[in-house]
Formats: sequence, structure tokens, C-alpha cells
Amino acid sequence: MSVTDDIKNRLDIVDVISSHTALQKSGSSYKSTCPFHDEKTPSFFVFPERQSWRCFGACATGGDVYSFVMKSRNIGFGEALRLLSEQTGIPLPSKDDNSDYQLVKDLNNSANAFFLEYLMSIRGARTREYLKKRNINQDTLEKFELGLSPSSGESLKTHLINMGYSTEQLASAGLVRNIENGSVRDIFINRLTIPIRNMNGELAGFGARTLSDSMPKYINSPKTIVFDKSRILYGLYLAKQTAVSDGLVVVEGYMDTITAHQNGFTNVVASMGTSLTTAQVSQITKLTDTVTMALDADSAGQQATLRSLESSWNVLQNNPRTGTGASPNLNLQISILPEGQDPDDVIRESPERWLNFTNNSIDAFDYILDAFARQVDVKTPYGKASLVHKLSGFITNIEEPMQQDHYVQILARFLSVNEDTIRASLNRNIRTSIPQRPKIKSDYQDTVSDSAFSKTDSDPIEEYCLASLLQDTTLISVCSNISPDYFFRPEHKEIITQIRNQIDTGHSAVDVNSLNHSLPEDLCNRVQSLLAKKLPSADRKTRILALKNSIVRLEDRYLKGLKTEESNSVYEDG
Ligand code: ZN
Repeated sequence: MSVTDDIKNRLDIVDVISSHTALQKSGSSYKSTCPFHDEKTPSFFVFPERQSWRCFGACATGGDVYSFVMKSRNIGFGEALRLLSEQTGIPLPSKDDNSDYQLVKDLNNSANAFFLEYLMSIRGARTREYLKKRNINQDTLEKFELGLSPSSGESLKTHLINMGYSTEQLASAGLVRNIENGSVRDIFINRLTIPIRNMNGELAGFGARTLSDSMPKYINSPKTIVFDKSRILYGLYLAKQTAVSDGLVVVEGYMDTITAHQNGFTNVVASMGTSLTTAQVSQITKLTDTVTMALDADSAGQQATLRSLESSWNVLQNNPRTGTGASPNLNLQISILPEGQDPDDVIRESPERWLNFTNNSIDAFDYILDAFARQVDVKTPYGKASLVHKLSGFITNIEEPMQQDHYVQILARFLSVNEDTIRASLNRNIRTSIPQRPKIKSDYQDTVSDSAFSKTDSDPIEEYCLASLLQDTTLISVCSNISPDYFFRPEHKEIITQIRNQIDTGHSAVDVNSLNHSLPEDLCNRVQSLLAKKLPSADRKTRILALKNSIVRLEDRYLKGLKTEESNSVYEDG
């Protein structure tokens, strides 16, 4: 049982509410005038049996002991939890008690020291030679802490076990993996190891380049409590300072970043092969409002690149700029590398040439427009319409009206059509891109529709649950059991239905953009307000716990609803 439940079980809702509002016994429940709205006749009820409360009057809201404390004190769930924990004496898991987190960090640091030492040992001679051939100098070697993992597949494991760690602990840090016969082997075998530090410089995991013919060429740590590739930009902690003055350049690989820094381009970071995520963008926008993405010529213009770019673009457009002095518009630029070369090659060949590329980048929209225009015949009406269709996702996702207008104008000029025609066409695209809405199952509302629920303006638990999922999209991983049935508010039900679809189709994070695509406009607004909802600040572990608890409570409520229904129908039949 969770702490939230423990606390709830320890409390009697009647005690809690009566210390705030004088209650009068009324049958099996208690009533009073509503503490949340002005009234003369009591319409506020407390049900001891269900440990819940409800206002059947103007505010038409209700919930459990947590929601009462939240509403009566105007505080968030986390604060209510803390308050009631003090009141009951049931301690919350301490935020300092992040021993799992610390363990993984310690293991990473030990592994890093091991790899560094191994590279400098006699066995690292060949790799040191290789690095010299690649013109990686001693300063860079130290700055980026390049190391070497032994080829035995057992060395790191043995080393760490000798230090007193268990194989389970090594697995939780993503340093070993199970192989078929039940034995455990190092993940990094005969590879150049590249420690990946987060924005604050904390070691999170490793990238590693093969030194033999083994594939893939690059691998990285699996996801751990500390390492999540989608939340880190490689090299950002070293690029922070330059990024503030020079903007940020995003390349794909570790070696590209390392070579760039060695040659004085210290504003270069690596995306590690993914499109920009909300977590990455919120780190970028604290530093700069100019991002240049270096695309290699082979992938430029390809569908996969454009899709990834659309995703990055939308994340950029939908992220509130928080940096000091950051402009409201984040400027996304594209520079395309020469055929067959990656940044590493270009820089090593001629740093001036690299500078030339990044200085002559083009606006991302111009690039996208050009790439899509090549796919259709813009001279025909059908071609024009399909170009607008292809670009609708890019344009309608821009929140800033002036900026959106700007792109509508560019598109109108490009196609030699009226701006209003473009707007009309965009609006049509939004409507037609909405799939048939699933009919909202209203079992609960039909049978209990006279209750206040269908009129409720807010539902703190549902809101908390959705807001935390939307604000930290990777929390989807703890929601495998979530069901739209648990949500009573029709608009929340609709949103969670879409998220459920994403879970079912294997998404590892909520895709807010495609959510916005598939929801009608009023619900997109709801998504926006949930994204903006202020949640109690807490570390990831606490947030996961709180989210899990909120789901349990929603499920609980749903099951109780079913039970009520059942007993109602028995009663009617009788
Ligand atoms: Zn009320």
C-alpha cells in the first residue's frame, strides 16, 4: 500500500472537514453550507462511508480528503500530502532518500575511472594510437574523458563486484546485461568510451564507439534512473557558455562534437540521433534562442528527416521561452553538410569551411518549404493544396500569431495565392485531420448523471494525472494500466483515450504534437492549459509516486462507481 493510501486510511474525512467547517449529521452522511461558495441552504455533503465529500450546489465539485485540503487551502497535491503526512505522523519517502539514484551515479563514476585508467594502461596503446591518428589531442582526451572498455566482457563486472557491488546493481546502472545462459556480461566491450554528462555536468551514462568491426558502430547506456537519452544533449554542459553568445549548433554524433570543441567551436552539442524533445528544448531555451541543426546531405530532404524536423519544430514552437533575455521566437536554422561528409570530416578538413556552413544556415521553414515543394507539382491546384496540407502541421503549431502570419505570407507568396485562401485551407486541414471521435462511453454519467459530477468544473486528480503526464511525457512508462474509463470529465476522457492509443502503439513518451493533431481545437486548448498548470516541484521519484497514486485513486473511484451502479440496479429490480 502506498503512503498516500496509508495517510488516507489513517484519517477520517469527517474529522478533517469538521475542523474546517461545522458539520451536521444528516442520515448516514453529514452536511453543511458549502465552504467554497456562498449559500444559505446546505448543499455540501460528507460521506463517511466512502470517505468523500461533494457540493451539490453552485461549485458542483467533490472528492476525497486530499482534494478537500487542496481546495480549502488552495494548495497543490504535494503540499496537501506533506500537510497530512505531518498531521498523521506517517512519513513521506524523503527526497534525500534517493539512494538508487546515488548508487547509479557512484557506479557510473567507478566505471568511468576504470575506463580512463584502462586507456592509459599498456593495453590501451593501440587505442591511444588510433586517437592520435584521428587528431584527438591530450587536452580533448581529458576534457571529454575518453576511455577504453576491455575486450574480455567480464573486466568491468569483476572490477565492480570486487568493489562490493552486486550484479543486480550493475544492471540497474546499465553497465552489464544478461545473456542467454543466465550469465551477465559487460555492455561495453572493446569500445572507446565516451561519458555522457547532463547539463549540470553530472555523469549520466556512456556512449561508446566500436574499435573492431562489431556493429553497431555506436552504442549508449540503456535507460536508467539517471540516464535518459531524450533528456540530454551531449556536450551541453561544455557548450553552455558559448551558446549564450553564439547560439547552439546541434550535430548528430559524439565525435562531431568532440572535434568541433577541439577546433574552438564550443557551441556544438550532439542530439545522439533523436529529434529534439521538450526536455532538451527547455534546456536550450535557458541559454539561447538560436539553434542551428547540421543535417548531413544524405538524409537531407528525406521523409524521416522531415518528420524528425517537424517534431523538433513543434517542440520548439510549443515551449515557453524561459531564459533571461530570450526572445519569444526561437529561431531554428538548418545547415546542410557537403555530400558524404559529417561535421567531423568538414572541421578536420577546414575549420573555416565549417564556420562558413554554420554562418550560412537557412531558416528552417524555408528549408522545409523547399523540401516539400520538391515532392509535388506546385503549378497544379492539387499540388498547391497538397503542399499546404504537408505544411499545415508546421504552421498551425505556431502559437505566436504574428509568427504564424509570417509563415502564411511566405507560403502565399510562394504559391501565388491569396493569404486568406491559405488560412481557409489550413483550417480545413486541421478539421479533416481529426479522426472520427470515439463516442464517449457514458456509463457512469448516465446512471449517476444527477450527481454533481457531470457538472463539475474541475477534477483535481484527473487534472493532476494528465498535467503530470503532459509535462513529463516520459512518465507514460508508469501508466501501463491507465484506462479512459477512470476519467469522468468528458474532455479528460478524450485526451486520455488518445494517450492510451499512444501507449498501445508503443510510444515511450507522450507525443504532444500528434495529440494536438488528433484532438479538436477546444481540447487542444485544454491540453495547453494542462501543460501550463503549475505542479508541486518534486524530484522524478516523487512525481512517479504521486502519478501512480493518482491513477490508483482514479481507478478506485471508478470501481466504487461501478459498485454503486450495481447496487442501484439491484435496488431498482427489487
Ligand atoms: Zn459549493
